[in-house]
Amino acid sequence: MKPATSKSGKVYITGAGPGDSQLLTLRAKAVIELADTILFDNLVNQDILDWAKPGVEKIFVGKLPYCSVITQETINQWMVDKALEGKQVVRLKGGDPMIFGRGAEEAAFLKENGIEFEIVPGVTSALAAGAYSGIPMTHRDASQMVLFVTGHTKKGKKTGLNFDWPMLAAFDGTIVFYMGVKNIGEIASHLVNAGKSVETLVAVVENGSLPQQKVVTGTLTTIGQEVEAAGIGTPALIIVGEVVKYHQEINWFASIQEQYHQRIA
Ligand code: SAH
Repeated sequence: MKPATSKSGKVYITGAGPGDSQLLTLRAKAVIELADTILFDNLVNQDILDWAKPGVEKIFVGKLPYCSVITQETINQWMVDKALEGKQVVRLKGGDPMIFGRGAEEAAFLKENGIEFEIVPGVTSALAAGAYSGIPMTHRDASQMVLFVTGHTKKGKKTGLNFDWPMLAAFDGTIVFYMGVKNIGEIASHLVNAGKSVETLVAVVENGSLPQQKVVTGTLTTIGQEVEAAGIGTPALIIVGEVVKYHQEINWFASIQEQYHQRIA
């Protein structure tokens, strides 16, 4: 462990929210304003970088498909190096840093290296996609539980979709799949094969909370085709459960989403 000097800076592992530049916490805004260096991922809305002081170092460290990637080890080392230079470092991540965001891994590395850190929570994309599509995560009449799930594991793609399908099929609440839209057909058939009703409602929300948000709904039988027909890509979330039925009624955002982002702060 390198000894951090008293002049070492601090790292703020910060949730940048789901996309809408107003869905950040006041603490997130405050740390962006005090930053000397910002390391940001690709799902971060870059408008919020304008809150930084003039001349702040802004480094894109996102992982883009089919591009050479900056490894997690490099990002970790940059955070440490910049902090040892005495800088206030903001590590900006989409949504919440502790939900499928490697926030804890980065915090552990900072701790090992004697670097002070803070974790600033963010609005995770599931909550925003739900709110902006009128789909509640829970409802007294429809769902008492929520499950956030990812198909991506550290073991890599070779293991396939590594879920406990019988457990997921039996889960009597709302299930939100992150990073799953490319495998929607497979996910739907696994759920059905494991015993979930073919009539179970499903929504897919692409670019939740952004002006280009798209929502597609269907059942476990139809959703694969619906998603393909609508040309849904990433980032998108899959919401499975009875709560999807509220979309039609509570869908407040669709008719105003283009103008919504021109609103006065
Ligand atoms: N830490 C993030 C999740 C990172 S994993 C969070 O808390 O939201 C990346 C996945 O999040 C994407 O593949 C997608 O499934 C989801 N996601 C992130 N932003 C999204 C958005 N605006 N709309 C829909 N899904 C989103």
